[in-house]
Amino acid sequence: MADNIQVGGYEDPFVVKDAGGKGMGCYATRDIKAGERVLVERCLLWQVNHTDIYERTNSLLRSYLALSEADRAKILELHSDRNPNTRFRNEAAFENSGELITADQLDECVTVRLVHAANNFEIENSKKAPDGTQIPPRSGVFIKASRFNHSCDPNCWYTATAWTGHFICTPMRPIKKGEEITISYIPNQAPREKRQAALRKFWKFGCLCNRCEGWDLDYDVQLEEAYRLQYPNADEDTLLPGFIQGGREAEERRILRRAELLEALRWPPELYFGYLDAAEYFVQLNKELRGADLKQSLVYNQRAERYLDNAVAVGEEVWAPGEIIWQDTIDYAQKIKLRIAEIKKALEEPSGS
Ligand SMILES: [Zn+2]
Repeated sequence: MADNIQVGGYEDPFVVKDAGGKGMGCYATRDIKAGERVLVERCLLWQVNHTDIYERTNSLLRSYLALSEADRAKILELHSDRNPNTRFRNEAAFENSGELITADQLDECVTVRLVHAANNFEIENSKKAPDGTQIPPRSGVFIKASRFNHSCDPNCWYTATAWTGHFICTPMRPIKKGEEITISYIPNQAPREKRQAALRKFWKFGCLCNRCEGWDLDYDVQLEEAYRLQYPNADEDTLLPGFIQGGREAEERRILRRAELLEALRWPPELYFGYLDAAEYFVQLNKELRGADLKQSLVYNQRAERYLDNAVAVGEEVWAPGEIIWQDTIDYAQKIKLRIAEIKKALEEPSGS
């Protein structure tokens, strides 16, 4: 699997610079094509997310202490909460770290803990060991990936779990030279209020991305224009109607219309991601049901399944065999199919039994 992934040996197509008001950001140094690789990075610092806070902290410490001086310096430079009260409270997590560190290292270790808190990505899901015990998940810090800012309508897709310990970032649409590279820190098909609440709670910022501000997006305009150029005599009624401002309905319409326009244009890598976004939207709608309406849940899951199957089919022409993005989507489609089978079974069972 790893053979198909470019690891290093190429220059990053972006620079890190001041993003004005939101700290640092990554900006494209050249035009980047959809489906190209923006970044493959190995995780530098990681933590086993044990339930016990001391075990958790010590696993992070061991990983940090194994680093070279130069790598430690890179970790300490990343963004973290500098509030003295927060720092003081975090000291308690090191109560059982006496064998690992001396008292005068405590301050540095508090910074490491806060850097991890602010920048970690889940790198390995929780899983069952052969003896049946649960192995806790792991989360890690990536130096370069930590500089990618958030957008609820990001131009890049990423995974940090598909290939353990590696962050893989791929543009979902063409990125122009000078444009900021963005990823979504949260499930980006959640409603606006939920997205804003999650970002405030965990990352302490209010999102000002195009989507949250309710503006039209360059990408959508570009798709519309390309569509009209390719089909000058097209009957617009065959497509979902154009954009309306604000709210959930507008978001749904935009996501599905993108998929429709891309389908008509047959731009393979972009279409692939258009289908993924649409699938993710229906997965999100299902999540919001919280299992309250099985019939509706079946409908949402089946719609997600259809878009995922489409993505898998397009993936065959876009990606090399075994490519991580494609494999990830195949696994995802499989998961949804299992869920559909479960719902169908539950609906068939006579109620009350
Ligand atoms: Zn936003």
